[in-house]
Amino acid sequence: MPELPEVETVRRTLMELVAGKTIERVSVNLPRIIQRPSDCEAFAAMLAGRTIGDVGRRGKFLLIRLNGLVLVSHLRMEGRYGLYRQDEPVEKHTHVIFHFNDGTELRYKDVRQFGTMHLFEPGEELKLPPLNKLGIEPLSDAFTLKSLRDKLQHRTTKIKPLLLNQEYIVGLGNIYVDEALYMAGIHPERTAETLKPKDWERLHIAIGQTLGSAVEAGGSSIKSYVNGQGEMGMFQHKLAVYGRQNEDCKQCGSTIQKSVVGGRGTHVCMNCQPLPRQQTKGEERQKAN
Ligand SMILES: [Zn+2]
Repeated sequence: MPELPEVETVRRTLMELVAGKTIERVSVNLPRIIQRPSDCEAFAAMLAGRTIGDVGRRGKFLLIRLNGLVLVSHLRMEGRYGLYRQDEPVEKHTHVIFHFNDGTELRYKDVRQFGTMHLFEPGEELKLPPLNKLGIEPLSDAFTLKSLRDKLQHRTTKIKPLLLNQEYIVGLGNIYVDEALYMAGIHPERTAETLKPKDWERLHIAIGQTLGSAVEAGGSSIKSYVNGQGEMGMFQHKLAVYGRQNEDCKQCGSTIQKSVVGGRGTHVCMNCQPLPRQQTKGEERQKAN
C-alpha cells in the first residue's frame, strides 16, 4: 500500500501532468470506484467542462481541485494514475478515464479495485467522510511536539498502533512507523504513557525526518508502488530497520528482530530500542497471573 511519501510523490507528479487541463468527458468502467455521488453517470456529468486547478493531499488521499468541485481519490492497495494520448491502447484494469480537450487523458488503473473517488463542493470535503476524522498532517506546521504529546501521551496502549491510527496522525503506515521508532530508539510495544519527554522529542524529530527524506527520495517501492509517471520510488534502499530482519543493526551490530505488534509485522533492534524494565516486569506479572 502506498504510504504518505508515495502519495505525496504521486501528488507532485499529477500536479505537473494535469494542472490547467480541462475535462471534456469522463468514462467510468467500474462504477464501484465512484463512492460519491452514488450514480457514476452523475459523477461524469458533474466533471464535464471543469478545469483542474491544483492537486492537494490530506493523509493518503489526493485532492484534485477543479473549478467548483473537489475530487478526493484514494489509491488504496494498487491504484495508479497515468497520462496518455487518446490514441494509446487502454490497458487492462483501467476503470476511470478523464478525457481532456487537448487530446490527452488521465487514466485510473487499479488491479485490486479497492481505490475510491468522492466528489464534493469545495469546503464540503473536510466536513464529511472520508476526510472528516483524519488526524494531524505530519509534514505540516500543525505537527508540533506539543500536538504529538497532547494526542498520545496519556494513552495506555502500545505506541506503534497509536502511530498507525489515522485519527491521531495521518499517513504513517507500517514501514515509516518502524523506521521512525527505530530512529527514535523507542520499542514499538512501549505504552505511550511510559515515554519520557526526551522520547517524545526524539519521536517527533524522527517522524518528520523519516517522512521528509522519503518524500525527497520519491517514496518507497516495497510492494509495487509506481508514481504517476511510472517511475519506481527509491526509498527502499535507505530503510534502516523495515524488512531487515536477521540482518545487523546499522547502529550497534545486534540482529534486527521481526515480531508482530497489533497484527502488523514489526522490525526492531532490542539493543537500540529497549523495553523499559518496569513494562517488561509488568507484562511478566500479567502473564503469571
Ligand atoms: Zn541496534
